[in-house]
Amino acid sequence: MNTDSKGARPPLVDIGVNFHSAQLASMTSPLLARAKAAGVAQILATGTSLASSRLALDLAKANPGVVFATAGVHPHGAKSHDTATFHELIELWKCPEVVAVGECGLDYNRNFSTPQAQRTAFEQQLSMAVETRKPLFLHCRDAFTDFHDMLAPVVADGARGVVHCFTGNRAEAEAFLEMGLDIGITGWVTDLQRG
Ligand SMILES: [Zn+2]
Repeated sequence: MNTDSKGARPPLVDIGVNFHSAQLASMTSPLLARAKAAGVAQILATGTSLASSRLALDLAKANPGVVFATAGVHPHGAKSHDTATFHELIELWKCPEVVAVGECGLDYNRNFSTPQAQRTAFEQQLSMAVETRKPLFLHCRDAFTDFHDMLAPVVADGARGVVHCFTGNRAEAEAFLEMGLDIGITGWVTDLQRG
């Protein structure tokens, strides 16, 4: 890693920006400029669907060495995930700019897709993380038991990754760390309702 000209602090890496989201979609250039000014050297653009994964890859190609992409299907979108989209994602995971598999996981809090559809999409992405040896960008909400049970065998097969935006309890945090996963502590840390 490079140090900046002042040598004051190491460069920062932001591992999850939803550039495609409604809130950020029109702000890509100013966001990249502000990140650079703040010392953020690299950014991972999150893909949460086939379409947003393609956008993330396009952004990565337009900003080589600065922006990288994930490709995957968020549990909310699992209902529209099928064999065709899976095969399209497999092509994306071959790209060097795509450095992680996800955002994927389980979210039983709102069940925008059925738990069965979520598990099917998650299972496919877990297997691809093992096959591509790319880390997982993981989402888990109110689904710890199934999530942990599905992850355990792929972790044993060498998969690694980050449970981003962790909102579980202490035992869950310790279980993930015990598996060798990282957890992301994000803005929720300021939310009293989540402790
Ligand atoms: Zn998430």
